[in-house]
Amino acid sequence: MKPESILLIILIISIVSYLFDQALDFINLKAMKKDIPAEIESFYNKENYQKSLAYQREQSKFSFITSALSFLLSLGMLIFGGFGYIDTLLRPFFQNEITLALVFFGCIMIASDLLTMPFQWYAIFVIEEKYGFNKTTIQTFISDKLKGYILGAVIGGALLSLLIFLINYIGPDFWIWFGLVAATVILFVNMFYTSLLLPLFNKLTPLADGELKTAIETFAQKVDFPLDNIFVMNGSKRSAKANAFFSGIGRKKKIVLYDTLIDKHTTDELVSVLAHEVGHFKKKHIIWSYLISIAQVFFVLFVLSKMVFNENLSIALGGSQQAIHLNLIAFGILFSPISGITGLFMSMLSRKNEFEADAFAKETFDGNALSNALRKLSVDSLSNLYPHPLYVFFHYSHPPLLQRLDALKD
Ligand SMILES: [Zn+2]
Repeated sequence: MKPESILLIILIISIVSYLFDQALDFINLKAMKKDIPAEIESFYNKENYQKSLAYQREQSKFSFITSALSFLLSLGMLIFGGFGYIDTLLRPFFQNEITLALVFFGCIMIASDLLTMPFQWYAIFVIEEKYGFNKTTIQTFISDKLKGYILGAVIGGALLSLLIFLINYIGPDFWIWFGLVAATVILFVNMFYTSLLLPLFNKLTPLADGELKTAIETFAQKVDFPLDNIFVMNGSKRSAKANAFFSGIGRKKKIVLYDTLIDKHTTDELVSVLAHEVGHFKKKHIIWSYLISIAQVFFVLFVLSKMVFNENLSIALGGSQQAIHLNLIAFGILFSPISGITGLFMSMLSRKNEFEADAFAKETFDGNALSNALRKLSVDSLSNLYPHPLYVFFHYSHPPLLQRLDALKD
């Protein structure tokens, strides 16, 4: 295919996906209702509910602006061959293809982060602040950025170097080998997330002895859950929003509870939230989602292996010669409709799994306690009670609150 036709396809994909996303956001905004559903009436006062509507409206409007800007920017980069221009600019300074690719992606990432930084800042320090969610200090914001950069440079840089090395030295079969490496990395991240990655950003303290710890341990024993440790994470350092999860593969599970979650819920509610998480493990959702993501990685790499040697992709992006890093960008856009479709199926599966985990919590612990916990979580995070069904279909990994409450009823 000629470079001009490739560029045309890339532009069409970018434009259609942008318009599609904006249309979904728009109908979702229009679906908002002013009344409070009876199921959660007692948890909200009118004023708080108005606040939640205002919060969602403000978030949507802000996202319309930021997505429009980033869309125009990437469209400009594509039409005017910006990516190829950067490549031509850097090329004389770097003989080695791996170094060139690292510097190329480094420049693009840093530039795009600098451009979006004022918006990230506004989202946290203006919008989240206004609705009482923000707890992040400027120091935390900056140190998170720096740590993110270092982590991204180390892990992303290592993977990118290896990918280009394998592409150059193994040829079209590189995808099998890189797939094996990627699968191992995903496994390791899953295994050591709580012990290695999370402590870089947060403080984890073992949960003190007491009513809550005893209740969690009793539940773990009852359902034969291999509990290793329970930690409390200082989520309040960044946000008032609450969460809980567990991590670890095999017979050593670490449970992490946000301090913000513990503050606002009863012991029964907290155990029911954990019962839901345990449900994901017991129903084998975790192992399946790992296997599916590995299969996806191999599929993506296989398709990539059919495109990465095509010089016309680089030329379509304004390059003067074939460059793996240019082809990776072109591939990223060309593949996005397919990843959109697989993402859609993953969200459907995820919503089904959420219902199953809720049902597990209801069977093994207490459906009412979970219902109350879900209500509180939804009220506290001012989440949307009436998302448009189409928006849910495409974007939601969790079913909307009212559907979950409905399923938890006796
Ligand atoms: Zn869940």
